[in-house]
Amino acid sequence: MARHTTYRTGGPAETYIYPKTTEDWSFVLKLARTENIPLHILGFGSNILVGGKGMGGIVCSTRRMDQIAAKEERITAEAGAALDKVCETAVNAGLCGMEKLSGIPGSVGGAVYMNAGAFGQETFDCLEYVEVIDFEGRPAMLQKKDLPHGYRHVDGIENYIILSAGFSLGKKDFSSLTEARNSILHKRREKQPLEFPSAGSVFKRPAGDYASRLIDEAGLRGLSIGGAKVSEKHAGFIINFNHATPEDIKQLMEEIKRQVREKNGIELETEQILWGEFAS
Ligand SMILES: Cc1cc2nc3c(=O)[nH]c(=O)nc-3n(C[C@H](O)[C@H](O)[C@H](O)COP(=O)(O)OP(=O)(O)OC[C@H]3O[C@@H](n4cnc5c(N)ncnc54)[C@H](O)[C@@H]3O)c2cc1C
Repeated sequence: MARHTTYRTGGPAETYIYPKTTEDWSFVLKLARTENIPLHILGFGSNILVGGKGMGGIVCSTRRMDQIAAKEERITAEAGAALDKVCETAVNAGLCGMEKLSGIPGSVGGAVYMNAGAFGQETFDCLEYVEVIDFEGRPAMLQKKDLPHGYRHVDGIENYIILSAGFSLGKKDFSSLTEARNSILHKRREKQPLEFPSAGSVFKRPAGDYASRLIDEAGLRGLSIGGAKVSEKHAGFIINFNHATPEDIKQLMEEIKRQVREKNGIELETEQILWGEFAS
């Protein structure tokens, strides 16, 4: 899974497939149900850490479902389309509401699942509907109101496979949108350690504070375990700076939580998702 996740580390998947059509999904869902095989839905793996011992079951990548279409003030995108590509399409069409999501390196499915956001904008701000299939193979169209959501959380979304999403946007002039997008991309390059593999912010923002501020205050910037390190550029990121094992990264996550708890009494909540088995 090192090849399929942005941390660039992780053990093997037992089976890895790329379903594309609804027929493909129906087939794999039926197989998983009848044979009792666990299914894992993977977008771009930019929020996932896979244990060194790998994972059983079937990993279904959405990479081959990547169509995007813009019509009037709407964009529809398949789950495996890059969120950033959707933002670019919106900006080029003079549509506003997603420009601040520029540069988030996930897929549309992953962005909906996590309610990804940045600079005060969230995926659900402009989401209109999602086309899904449940694990019994039943298709459905869910409107935004059917999916209670909050900061990096969507109630009940784990019961579905997201096939596509529709976004409803506003009109704005192309030049101001382009400027906004470029400024966001510039800020990301300036503030985030994009030169190293990572999965973005490790922890959710605690109420009224920033995880990176607490980590910094605890003196943990630059702390390393094996090949994993708290980024010197952005203390909210763990980077794989030198062939980190997933266990290095997991241990570092736990060490950060422990030290912040001891120093500030605050329990950091991990935003990143751990899959598979970790060596002890
Ligand atoms: C450098 C960097 C910067 C980042 N900056 C931000 C940021 O500013 N804001 C932010 O919110 N996040 C950020 N992230 C984290 C990450 O990009 C987002 O959480 C993104 O939404 C994850 O999308 P993904 O396609 O990679 O999902 P994955 O990591 O592949 O999966 C995440 C979860 O979504 C589920 N999932 C994915 N696709 C589907 C689907 N089609 N159907 C059902 N479930 C699905 C998976 O099963 C998993 O549970 C950053 C990451 C990196 C590496």
